[in-house]
Amino acid sequence: MTKNIVVIPGDGIGKEITTAAVNVLKKIASKYNWQLNFSYYDAGGTAYDKSGVPLPDETLAAAKAADAVLFGAVGGDKWDDVAPALRPEKAILGLRQGLGLYANLRPVKAMETLLEYSPLKPSIIRGTDILIVRELIGGIYFGERCESEEYKGTTRAWDLENYSIPEVERIVALALTTARSRKGRVTSVDKANVLATSRLWRKTAAETAKKYSNVQLDNMYVDNCSMQLAINPTRFDVIVTSNLFGDILSDEAAVLSGSIGLMPSASIGERTSLYEPIHGSAPDIAGKGIANPLGTILSAAMLLRHSFSAEAAAADIEIAVQKALADGYRTADIYSPEFKKADTLQMTQAVIDNIG
Ligand code: NAD
Repeated sequence: MTKNIVVIPGDGIGKEITTAAVNVLKKIASKYNWQLNFSYYDAGGTAYDKSGVPLPDETLAAAKAADAVLFGAVGGDKWDDVAPALRPEKAILGLRQGLGLYANLRPVKAMETLLEYSPLKPSIIRGTDILIVRELIGGIYFGERCESEEYKGTTRAWDLENYSIPEVERIVALALTTARSRKGRVTSVDKANVLATSRLWRKTAAETAKKYSNVQLDNMYVDNCSMQLAINPTRFDVIVTSNLFGDILSDEAAVLSGSIGLMPSASIGERTSLYEPIHGSAPDIAGKGIANPLGTILSAAMLLRHSFSAEAAAADIEIAVQKALADGYRTADIYSPEFKKADTLQMTQAVIDNIG
């Protein structure tokens, strides 16, 4: 297999953590005898400093042409005074739009070795393994809006939510397909007791699911879902939901596993998909070599699974991460004195050593 991966380190700890993930991918490439070609492009504040824009045309063009994109993080206090349209974070929106990244996938898995970091009791969090599938380029975040208008003698603002049947079909089909290689259950989350878009969403989800006889679909209201995530997270397998509800639920779910440094994500595009940890550029620890690389390394595992259909190699990385943690390695963000303190390089090496 020969594949071209565009790496966009970005700002802050971005370079450290993407270097870690690339080194793990190189180990996988040598194990499976693949040729993975890596090319590096700027985005965010680093790109702004060099070229005056957060997402240079050449970065977007390279990302579009790549087989997959590995992204670090962007942003930092240094660019606080930059004009809003040129802020580092605009690079993410530009990539989402440019690559048509219509779905965001966030796995939330409670690792046995890290149960103590969860805000939930071990008896509740143990065994949690959820994939949140969030619609990413539609709904209320992309609808018409009005910042201020006169209405009945006062001033009001509004945002319009709309979803079309093809938009819902596409995201629900992705959730159903993904569920086939998991426990085969999808929970579609909406607010169909109040919202018209949710009623269309629910009806379309049911229609779409008819083509997936081996996957079980159920529906849940978003308010109940947010409660169930905290009291009974093991009841879920795949959750599929709209842009707005997914934004909120995926952040709630992200804290369940305890450490932000460990959480990977995938943003699925029509052609090229993008993989990144959920955390930001952590300017407070940038350049110190102590960042937790596991979120980015696990994002690389998602890249292999979703872009290259390389399930065995993805599992190799995930098992190696669990073994490194079971061997007692901990970066500063998840360290306590009974463990072996590891910096970014040592943690990465512990993962590489556990890939057979
Ligand atoms: P952050 O996620 O960067 O950091 C929050 C806290 O978590 C910090 O204390 C940080 O040191 C710690 N942390 C984060 N990742 C870590 C890791 N891998 N290892 C160890 N500790 C880690 O969030 P923030 O401080 O709110 O934002 C910093 C900058 O990142 C801002 O400019 C923000 O806009 C940007 N940001 C970017 C993205 C992205 O690129 N996708 C996402 C979120 C925030």
